[in-house]
Amino acid sequence: MGGNELKYIQDAFDTNWISQYGSNINEFESVLENYLGNNSFVTALSSGTAAIHLALRLLNVEEDDFVICQSFTFVASANPVLYQKAIPVFVDSETSTWNLCPNALEDAIKYCLKQGKKPKAIITVSLYGMPFMVDEILEISRRYEIPIIEDSAEALGSTYKDKPCGTFGDLSVTSFNGNKIITTSGGGILVSRNQKYKDEALYLATQAKENRKYYSHSEVGYNYRMSNISAGIGRGQMEVLKGRISKRRENHDFYKEIFKNWENINLFEEPGKDFFSNYWLNTITIEGNNIEITKENLKRNFSENNIETRYLWKPMHLQPLFEKYKFFGSNVCGIIFDRGLCLPSGTNLTDGDKDKIRNILISFRS
Ligand SMILES: *Cc1c(COP(=O)(O)O)cnc(C)c1O
Repeated sequence: MGGNELKYIQDAFDTNWISQYGSNINEFESVLENYLGNNSFVTALSSGTAAIHLALRLLNVEEDDFVICQSFTFVASANPVLYQKAIPVFVDSETSTWNLCPNALEDAIKYCLKQGKKPKAIITVSLYGMPFMVDEILEISRRYEIPIIEDSAEALGSTYKDKPCGTFGDLSVTSFNGNKIITTSGGGILVSRNQKYKDEALYLATQAKENRKYYSHSEVGYNYRMSNISAGIGRGQMEVLKGRISKRRENHDFYKEIFKNWENINLFEEPGKDFFSNYWLNTITIEGNNIEITKENLKRNFSENNIETRYLWKPMHLQPLFEKYKFFGSNVCGIIFDRGLCLPSGTNLTDGDKDKIRNILISFRS
């Protein structure tokens, strides 16, 4: 926590606004609208997953509709497609950002069109904080007139050509789950460019209750609103976001220094000056043969010292849950998954922690 979270929670208690209304929610939304700029409208919700679900609802995704989704992601990007009984169509990554491959995306769109149905949405992801190839993907979205749902859950604070992630989609999403760069204990936002989407999201998030004198409902709604307590945590966290990003980027520099002359390990990095990553997680890929052995040995060396490393997200097209759905690409993301590991990247890494990590890596190399 940053420091002021308790103060904002106390405000909520003092005024007895502890549920889904109150000044913390309004303030949190308005701080985020200012932070994102670009005429953003923000609706605070109970999770990033809820935000993706509402984005699909706002775009009228229904049973048997196609929704294109990046395969290389956490399952929460794709689960809401199934909530709507729609059909996910998975698309591979390219190697520079690990996100949507423009060519594979076009192949997927053409496939859907051939089936006689234009996809209702394209779900893009900025994995591990790295912005996707924004210009290329938006150009395709415009040419085929298919809206973008931008899953920016891992990329709050990242930018592409100085414009923040979370502002590129027709609808964008970020998450404040406990593992993200800042947290509200659990929560998310839906970001759009107009008041109408914001109002509609709020309506659906509060049981789709119509404005009558009695409780009147004509469509399915959800209990997806963020609580005023969580929003209080969020207000405090927004005050320290900038510092958190610098800390994560310092972690990245730390790894960059270590890996600079390594031949068989690549640190995943910004592909060019247009890309600014919050470096939510630092990830590596292992080159050459015997990847499995190298990866497991490295993982074991860390865990013997009580340090956790993790596998990358296993792509959705390789998950039993999504076995029967189409995938377009050449399994670039599957190969990255096989070769990759996430290294310790928390904002609370101390110099002592870093010494330990450095020593393990250096002893592993020799
Ligand atoms: C965390 C995450 C989500 C979901 O956010 P929640 O707030 O946990 O529901 C969605 N997509 C990606 C890529 C994520 O990492």
